Amino acid sequence: MKIEAELHRILEKAWCSIPLTRQDCKYLLSLEETSFASGLLRSTAGSIIRSKNDNSAVILGQIGVDISLCPGGCKFCVFGDGHTKFTSSHMSEEELYEKIEGFCKFGDLYGLYLMTMHQYDLDHYLRVIRQARKSASETTQIWANVGDSGLEALQEIRKAGVTGIYHVCRIGEGKDTNLKPEDRIRTMRHALDAGLELYTCCEPIGPEHTVDELVDNIFIGVEMGITQHAAMRRVAVPGTPLAKYGQISELRLAHIVAVIALCSLTVPTMAYIGVHEPNALSYASGANIITAESGANPRDCQGDTSKNRGMDMARCRKMLFECGFTHIRRGDESKIPLNLEYLHQTDSLN
Ligand code: SF4
Repeated sequence: MKIEAELHRILEKAWCSIPLTRQDCKYLLSLEETSFASGLLRSTAGSIIRSKNDNSAVILGQIGVDISLCPGGCKFCVFGDGHTKFTSSHMSEEELYEKIEGFCKFGDLYGLYLMTMHQYDLDHYLRVIRQARKSASETTQIWANVGDSGLEALQEIRKAGVTGIYHVCRIGEGKDTNLKPEDRIRTMRHALDAGLELYTCCEPIGPEHTVDELVDNIFIGVEMGITQHAAMRRVAVPGTPLAKYGQISELRLAHIVAVIALCSLTVPTMAYIGVHEPNALSYASGANIITAESGANPRDCQGDTSKNRGMDMARCRKMLFECGFTHIRRGDESKIPLNLEYLHQTDSLN
């Protein structure tokens, strides 16, 4: 069995914590996901990431707190103005409380995302953050997923109790969306300047995207000092304009997750690697973040995704266990052993 010298050289670099270059990234992404080389890449990424984290993983919760006809107009999102079938709504305080209680019942939620639309009412959103901070477990961090924002707004968001934000300059930004790449990147810079952690993602990946487009997108995060990186495939939701291109397989997604993991692991602030939507192949390939979802979701025609695509906490725990993780991390980095007994205790075996 022969391993290409170039693959061997790049994997050796990763094992030795030497940063990978764009050229290395391009080489890895150009490999066929069905090849022996891809298997080696994916198992290398999985082994390195697990060895750095004591074989632990984190569970996040995401609650979509608002729905509106979004001027972002993203051609892959169910809320895009021009093609959405949704009408505007805000989640009530009672519903938000109930959902947080459900996520935090066993105290093992690492971070809770509060997701709103591209345009949002800052005062209302700050009230939502404060309510979430009061209702969530002390060991759960509160995170924001908001549209483009100025420095002052992000400083307010931080003061209200948020640790970090998810923000992305998407593949095809400005072409498949009504938003400008420079505004997206400016918001990411503002977040760091406001003292927030930055979580980003290479998304939304479709079958038509080239390796060069993926490399450019991955390195936005790698070069910015992120705390989390991730990969998300575009879901071909019927009715969204880009659904006609179809979607990549979970195997291809796992291959991309492995490449992102190896390219990000030398970023000094990097902690965890995500994948959307959760799948076992990616958890064997370097991903160690799983997300339970409730409320609005750009990848779901159902107004409350917990009734359709969104996974609940029990399924998240079970999937991490089946993928061989032995610990779940809380938001204060303390660890809970993940074993059969824990799955019993948390009603996660069904
Ligand atoms: S992805 Fe976000 S910004 Fe784009 S249309 Fe959907 S809600 Fe708006």
